[in-house]
Amino acid sequence: MPANILLVEDEPAIQELIAVNLTRAGHHVLRVSDAETAQRVVKDALPDLILLDWMLPGMSGVEFARKLRGDDRTRAIPIIMLTARGEEQDKVTGLETGADDYVTKPFSPRELVARIKAVLRRRSPQVTEDPVESGGLKLDPTTHRVSAEGLVLALGPTEFRLLHFLMTHPERVHSRTQLLDQVWGDHVFVEERTVDVHIRRLRSALEASGHDRMIQTVRGSGYRFSLQVDAAN
Ligand code: CA
Repeated sequence: MPANILLVEDEPAIQELIAVNLTRAGHHVLRVSDAETAQRVVKDALPDLILLDWMLPGMSGVEFARKLRGDDRTRAIPIIMLTARGEEQDKVTGLETGADDYVTKPFSPRELVARIKAVLRRRSPQVTEDPVESGGLKLDPTTHRVSAEGLVLALGPTEFRLLHFLMTHPERVHSRTQLLDQVWGDHVFVEERTVDVHIRRLRSALEASGHDRMIQTVRGSGYRFSLQVDAAN
């Protein structure tokens, strides 16, 4: 599964090595060299996973991880800490800040790719059959039923998959290409405007309960599922 990975690493050679290997593994990598820049990037759009170096100039990786875990919007982002420290106590501290995994330098790129895969599998709930609930909207993958405020909402199979993906990846912007990859599968040739057609159908299916407002258009970027209903949407 291709993921948007935010890499926070101040050593250029390591940053390059990791970025090359993750790109080769099919991921989209966004690189920054300090936590302050990473914070701005995250504010703009949530990544699927953050690779976070422990020792950074300015705010440390541990401090940044704590901030992310302390904010509702960013709490669920999977984090893998990168560090030169190998001591047991550091490992414990790293995991206590809320990191999902911990990789000690030097590591093999292959090992890192495998760890990322494991964390994504564990933390990407759209591949599971668990029911999802958000702002009163309920989606049950086992019964293929969507309901809200006591109403059962009728959705086509594509709209159902689209909503399942959006609800399990809330508060971040997905481009049409990413939605095609995630919802339609990356081997299918579908035009990007097909996404718009299904978004329109999804919105009209959710209109009865007012949840259509949670499917937001982000101009020039794509779509977002958000609990924060903006007046502009
Ligand atoms: Ca460093």
